[in-house]
Amino acid sequence: MKNYDGIALFSGGLDSILAARLLMEQGRSIKCLHFYSPFFGHPGRVEHWSEAYGLDITAIDAGEAFVDMLKKGPAHGFGSAMNPCVDCKILMMSLAREQMETYGAKFLVSGEVLGQRPMSQRRDTLNVIRRDAEVRDVLIRPLSAKLLDPTAVEESGLVDRSRLLGMNGRGRKEQLALAERFGIAEIPTPGGGCKLTEKENTRRFWPVLSRLASPDVNDFMLADVGRQFWYGDYWLTIGRHKSDNEAYAPLLREGDLHFKVAGFPGPIALGRSSRPWDNETVRMAAALAASYSPKACKAAEEGQRIGVRVTQNGSSTVVEVTPGRDSLFLDPTWESARDELHALRKAGAQSSE
Ligand code: SF4
Repeated sequence: MKNYDGIALFSGGLDSILAARLLMEQGRSIKCLHFYSPFFGHPGRVEHWSEAYGLDITAIDAGEAFVDMLKKGPAHGFGSAMNPCVDCKILMMSLAREQMETYGAKFLVSGEVLGQRPMSQRRDTLNVIRRDAEVRDVLIRPLSAKLLDPTAVEESGLVDRSRLLGMNGRGRKEQLALAERFGIAEIPTPGGGCKLTEKENTRRFWPVLSRLASPDVNDFMLADVGRQFWYGDYWLTIGRHKSDNEAYAPLLREGDLHFKVAGFPGPIALGRSSRPWDNETVRMAAALAASYSPKACKAAEEGQRIGVRVTQNGSSTVVEVTPGRDSLFLDPTWESARDELHALRKAGAQSSE
């Protein structure tokens, strides 16, 4: 495998592009690693990015490691939604460090800018990330390097510190000027698109983390599809349209319940739980799934019996139901996720006092 001088963490955002290009401008060879998970990353864009930005990029699936970190509970807590930014950065840097030997790399590059984000890019947090990821001697943050202590790589002369920058704060003016100097025509929109920072997605993902015994990547992918309903740790997701219905097929696994109203067009629903389903809970889930079939609802109003085919591990049975939304399966709200996350933050703050 080809050797590189350094490995850059590449999110697809402007800062990560500029950080890698700054080192390349010094004649250093850089391998960019794009980590992705069910919550962030676009592995399908790597080819386009490589061409658009003149970078050598490889996508790496960090989903399992990320979910493990969520399950253990992020040591530095969650941000304004379900985003564990400090632990996420520590994890990505640790994963990149593990790749250094593979690529023969002597340093890591990150596009972090001092003071750009309130939680994860304060000076003290940048130091915590560097320490906990065990990258103290090898990490360069070229966009803000002049405002930070020199690293061993800079002191060794492998990287010319005088050609690194001293960016600070939230503005993008300097970044845009640098992009222009590098001839970068396609400027990514700021924000990054991490699903964990959004309320709507926190509403979907938080019950998976807080109610399932041992959630995995597949669970979080399923939470991203269709309408979500929970009754304790019984979970029902109901497709909203054809693409949701199609998305269930690769996610279906042993023990899952597959619901489809019989004889009428209607959505597919998928039931999952850490424990076995009892008949009453199955019937309640089937009635809710059938309520999203307008034709089945109309037929029920006209006195017809409605059957929902329920399939589990290859065996099917038809359950008779009255379609209805008056159910113990409830749509999880952002407010309840927010309150539980708030209580966690409070408990974390008290235990560190
Ligand atoms: S916004 Fe998402 S991807 Fe970015 S650092 Fe936070 S958790 Fe990680």
